[in-house]
Amino acid sequence: MTPIILVDGMLGKLSKWLRILGIKTLYAGTLTDNEIERELEKHSQTVLLTRDRELYRHAISMGYSALFVPEAPIEDQLSFVLKRLDIEPVLDMSRTLCPLCGSKLVRVSREEVVKEVPRGVLDRYEEFYKCMNCGQVYWRGTHFYEIEKTIEKVRLIMYGKVEC
Ligand SMILES: [Zn+2]
Repeated sequence: MTPIILVDGMLGKLSKWLRILGIKTLYAGTLTDNEIERELEKHSQTVLLTRDRELYRHAISMGYSALFVPEAPIEDQLSFVLKRLDIEPVLDMSRTLCPLCGSKLVRVSREEVVKEVPRGVLDRYEEFYKCMNCGQVYWRGTHFYEIEKTIEKVRLIMYGKVEC
């Protein structure tokens, strides 16, 4: 089972990438340390990712799973976390979660997003996804290839090779 991962306020970018990879992630940007501890208590599968050494030490001493994430480029942070949690980075749009809020995305037709997406985008792309919670619309555009490239880099760091 994919763990629920709690990311503290210093790791917002990391939480977005974990969600893109379909990993259930709670971004604790607005939670206090006490609230974070309560979340860890609630879900036994939860792993805390933090850049706060004190919070990390405290979580470990309480018996929770936690990783102290090094300050590094996002590719290195991602491979660090995925390796330790034994998760293979695979981009699969049917599993991708909304980078903004972490909810499920559903494939929608062009007609369904006609009011939300600029005309030029509507004409150029065919695959649209919508977040069921916050309503954000995504499409397979140029940004998508940047995402693929980053994930390839992560695979390279993790396995020393890129699978085609
Ligand atoms: Zn959303």
